[in-house]
Amino acid sequence: MPKKIIIIGAGLTGLTAALRLIEQGYRVTIVEASHEVGGLAGSVILDGTPVERYYHFICREDRDLIKFISELDLADKLNWREASTSLFINRKIYPFNTPLDLLKFDPTPFSQRLRFGIHIARSQFRKSWLGLDKIAAKPWLIGRVGMSAYMAIWDPLLRIKFGEFHEQISAAWIWHRIHRVSLSRARLFGLNSYGFLEQGCHTLMKRMLEKLSGSEKFSLILNKRVSKILIEHGKTQAVLLENRETIQADSIISTCAIPSFLKLVDSLGVYGASLASIKYLNIACAIFELDRPFSNNFWLNVNDPHVSFNGIVETTNLNPRRDLKAKSLIYIPYYMSPDDPRWGWMDEAFFNDYIGALKLINPKFSENWIIGSHFFRDVNAQAVCLVGFSEVIPAMRTPVHGLYMTDSAQYYPEDRTLSASVRLGASVAKLLTRDM
Ligand SMILES: Cc1cc2nc3c(=O)[nH]c(=O)nc-3n(C[C@H](O)[C@H](O)[C@H](O)COP(=O)(O)OP(=O)(O)OC[C@H]3O[C@@H](n4cnc5c(N)ncnc54)[C@H](O)[C@@H]3O)c2cc1C
Repeated sequence: MPKKIIIIGAGLTGLTAALRLIEQGYRVTIVEASHEVGGLAGSVILDGTPVERYYHFICREDRDLIKFISELDLADKLNWREASTSLFINRKIYPFNTPLDLLKFDPTPFSQRLRFGIHIARSQFRKSWLGLDKIAAKPWLIGRVGMSAYMAIWDPLLRIKFGEFHEQISAAWIWHRIHRVSLSRARLFGLNSYGFLEQGCHTLMKRMLEKLSGSEKFSLILNKRVSKILIEHGKTQAVLLENRETIQADSIISTCAIPSFLKLVDSLGVYGASLASIKYLNIACAIFELDRPFSNNFWLNVNDPHVSFNGIVETTNLNPRRDLKAKSLIYIPYYMSPDDPRWGWMDEAFFNDYIGALKLINPKFSENWIIGSHFFRDVNAQAVCLVGFSEVIPAMRTPVHGLYMTDSAQYYPEDRTLSASVRLGASVAKLLTRDM
């Protein structure tokens, strides 16, 4: 009998691992807590058509994902388009795309605009990052671009996103973000060009499920949460579901975020203590369906003391969704540490906050433009990569025989990306196959 593997979680990592393991001849069961696959890359149905719960764009550097999309015969569904980025500061929207835009960016002195541009170019070509792992992003960026440019451009990203941790974020993490995005520029004086799938990640998930469902070795259990991983004599035996059902397995891969994984297992000793030291942020994100465009930007960075979020992502300026009634979809993410009192806010409180800010950013905006609104929340959506994070990147192989674990902390210095999830899913499947 082929060995049986259980994968906890049907996000992109779990589905990729399942595909690779089925190819190797294993029997695979995925257990997913939600009623659908996709995880953070899941979708909702609007006007009878799928729309991503959270925005996703693809960069030229996302090679594992681009290769995987081709392998799934989806290359014709992957489109590339130039899309505009701007920055709202001092009550004004500044285009922030080309060297010329940078030279005209008057909230910072001219010399710092030049330093900012040089820093982007150097980060684009830089390959080594281990030295940057030992220093914090804030002093590194101030040293490279100057205080005024830092405060105008980088400070809101770090401070609003990471709150109390913002001064300890590793320079390697921010370097990789700059590196990845800057490599998506095809022409020096053009806009950045990003990729997107028709109907977003749903296109990918649907094709993966079609492939998996074609195998009799695959089964998917939706709407059932794993509540415990059962271990005997240092070896995995089974998973226990919330309804007390148990499913036996030769090996288990958890793809849920570390804080959730730690609740499924009893003590993992030193390994578990190292996992527990990693901090996470929760995400709350609104989608507004508008009857007209909010702006002509795909990405609008926001730096204003009266606005509590740091960006608006108008995905329809990258992927114009003619299959929707709305002319525009805007996403407004809010990252929070789990003990942030705002996490306990009702959805309405967030909406009131958003509406006031949208009016401030675009004085023509009116609530009448909104034809639909949605709000999503997920816990542990972002690992916080502090200085020295390379020393705590968790191993996929746990101390328990037959138990493997994946988490976005393993992408480091890369930020969470679909591409890294595909890579991680394939890597954990390879590791398990080698161990069997
Ligand atoms: C706001 C936001 C914006 C993003 N933007 C981009 C972008 O522009 N480009 C890009 O490339 N990437 C982006 N990403 C990152 C991308 O979405 C993730 O890297 C990827 O989806 C992670 O997939 P995963 O399978 O590793 O994890 P997840 O998607 O978190 O999957 C884990 C799954 O495990 C399930 N689960 C958890 N606990 C249990 C349990 N006990 N029992 C059973 N099931 C369980 C969950 O329900 C979930 O389905 C973004 C992410 C967010 C949050």
